[in-house]
Amino acid sequence: MTDCLFCTIINGDISVNKIYEDEDVLAFYDIKPRAPYHFLVIPKTHIKTLNNTNDEKLLGKLILIASDITQDLGFADKGYRVVMNCNKQGGQTVYHIHLHCLGGRVLTWPPG
Ligand code: IMP
Repeated sequence: MTDCLFCTIINGDISVNKIYEDEDVLAFYDIKPRAPYHFLVIPKTHIKTLNNTNDEKLLGKLILIASDITQDLGFADKGYRVVMNCNKQGGQTVYHIHLHCLGGRVLTWPPG
């Protein structure tokens, strides 16, 4: 999708600090980190919101890749949070689904 920021990143027209990539998924550091570790895991297919998919395999893969990355970066055991914002009231600003993974500090609950 040409007017989607994350599709543009997937196409390579905007560069990001990549952490992981395979045929289905890309993971990269968030440009505006909200924690010492803050990265995004996105599918390469354009899916607008969590309401627009029932692809269990792909959604499971996003979570497991996030978990693997926390192991690789060395903060898995300390703790982290994975979250997907959905639509305006959920705080979604980029309409191509993405899993946020945050860690490296104490995260309060509930989020704002
Ligand atoms: P949302 O608010 O859940 O939709 O999250 C979108 C996230 O994308 C925000 O945390 C942004 O900081 C992040 N973001 C936007 N543009 C870029 C970029 O070019 N590179 C990396 N992260 C980005």
